[in-house]
Amino acid sequence: MLGVRLPLGVRSLLVASVALVAAAAPAPTAQAHAHDLALFLLEHRVGLERYSTEERGDTSVLTAHFEYLDRGTKVALDTTLTYSSKDFTPISFESHGKSYRYFSVDTSVPKAARTANTFTLDGMAPLSAQSVLVRYWLVHGKPPIMRLAPSGDSIRIREIPEGTELTYLHSHPARRFVIEGVIWGQEVLLLDAVDFEVIAAGTTAGVLNFEAATGDLSPERAATLATIVRGLTLDAATERPRVEPFRSSHFALTGARLVDGTGNSPVEHAVVLVNNGKIEAAGAAESVRIPKGVPSIDVSGKTILPGLWDMHAHVGQAEWGPVYLAAGVTTARDMGGEFEAVKTLRDSWRDGRLVGPRLLLAGLVDGPGPNAFGAVTASTPAEAQAVVRRYKNAGFQQMKIYSLLDRPTTKAVVDAAHSADMTVTGHIPDGLTLREAVEMGFDNVAHLLVRGAPGSDELRDTIAFLKAHGTVMDPTISWSELLGRSPETPVASFQPGIEHVASPLRRLIESANGGDVTPQQAQERLTRSLEIIKALHDAELPIVAGTDKGVPGVSVAREIELYVQAGFTPMDAIRAATAVPARVMGLDKDSGTIAAGLRADLIVVDGNPLTRISDIRNVTHVCANGRLYETAPLWASGGFKP
Ligand SMILES: [Zn+2]
Repeated sequence: MLGVRLPLGVRSLLVASVALVAAAAPAPTAQAHAHDLALFLLEHRVGLERYSTEERGDTSVLTAHFEYLDRGTKVALDTTLTYSSKDFTPISFESHGKSYRYFSVDTSVPKAARTANTFTLDGMAPLSAQSVLVRYWLVHGKPPIMRLAPSGDSIRIREIPEGTELTYLHSHPARRFVIEGVIWGQEVLLLDAVDFEVIAAGTTAGVLNFEAATGDLSPERAATLATIVRGLTLDAATERPRVEPFRSSHFALTGARLVDGTGNSPVEHAVVLVNNGKIEAAGAAESVRIPKGVPSIDVSGKTILPGLWDMHAHVGQAEWGPVYLAAGVTTARDMGGEFEAVKTLRDSWRDGRLVGPRLLLAGLVDGPGPNAFGAVTASTPAEAQAVVRRYKNAGFQQMKIYSLLDRPTTKAVVDAAHSADMTVTGHIPDGLTLREAVEMGFDNVAHLLVRGAPGSDELRDTIAFLKAHGTVMDPTISWSELLGRSPETPVASFQPGIEHVASPLRRLIESANGGDVTPQQAQERLTRSLEIIKALHDAELPIVAGTDKGVPGVSVAREIELYVQAGFTPMDAIRAATAVPARVMGLDKDSGTIAAGLRADLIVVDGNPLTRISDIRNVTHVCANGRLYETAPLWASGGFKP
């Protein structure tokens, strides 16, 4: 089993807990009865889906109220699905509210068209409606492809027979379904084999990991089940065909312009020789001899650059892997996800069980309480030390501080991280100022949290202070642009990469905007932020490109474009997504530039980003750790459009 490796103790716990579900599973009746699903965001129990099904003769009515608290923000969705009691064909559908703090759902289908193999649904919530979808699929002979109304998206469902690796579920008649296309990527639904109520689900809210587990379980057992179902979603990813590299081991790229990321002038008609995961040689054609028998790939007219870095990632699903590579990202720093999920993805991408970039990890820790982000919290220095030790032992590079940590606990995280040879990044906790956090020892600061009007003394002082401390900033300005846009400004007008995105996610992203803001106001805010970023850059503070998820993969290109808009040279903007992050992460002797002996992480793009920065979007080939891929099959493998 690829996903979560369960200690035996956890397995026996599960046997006990699923037996409990079996005992509590209600017999199917004609009456309405309410069910609860506990909801988890990054494994933290945050809310409830309460649903009931009422059978009125030929027609059944599912009513669901889905509600959770995301870091203090209420997210709620009300849904009514009417369907045929006999064969689960939808009759009408209403779903209004939000499924994630930024993403709205507002769907009304008063009279569903009874088209073959079509089901009415919009998004992952409510999970109980997805159980009806599965029943529809089963009753209609398991069609290989189905359509969703009203979106028209195609979805695929498959059932995974319980394998020997799932012995911990054998005591319970559960059925496991993998659904692809309701969200971006795959979800796993564990349904009661008798009454088809949801036992557990692994899905995403926005793109953050989100789980549900039956409310019949104790909180501890529900949480364990949520972790297990996340492991099953990662297992499901290994069952899909994998994109194979176009070349690996020993090969040469010839004829392109080489921008090596050091800041040196480009070399025209260059050769880059890759051997066994490393760059063997790189430079002008006449200076690099291609050994006999080594295949050459002619990439004349294109530009070779170092692989890009996303310094503010939130991965959690396997589909990120090929999408990142297709966008040219060969290293991503995860800034907070589920402990087991990010470790499994890191290891699977590294070992080639799944296709994806190198993943560096920052361990998320927040203060306790219902508004916490994620399940890992600390409320005392002793707890802080234990959390840091756990992340360190799992090979995390950094700690990611979150908003609710109190002052002494924050200090304990910082000190424990530094003694463990880890660096510290994060949000500034609610009770601290930027200066206090930096004085406490924050090495990096996430998001653009620098205050002061461009040109003001306040800004100048802050910049001087940050410079004195060598603070690294990842401004995630592309994310601010996306969330702060005026509803009148289409996403595609500044982010053409949205065209790649799997349509269920595209709809969600396009539902987010800055609310009551005119295009001019949004532009003014963005310009002010860009002026601050430029001032930080002019003061030689390290700026690293990060997306905070954004539009998966392609937001890195937007971040780079915005740095050029701020006034960076194209070379400096590219270096903010290559050489600078490598240096910041202590990996500049390993990667971030193109030179003999370094890791073979590079991209080939059509055009010349030094003269037209948006050419950075035209990645035709990506070489990740010496494995060369064409990007079109990677996009498709991640469920995106090439
Ligand atoms: Zn983040």
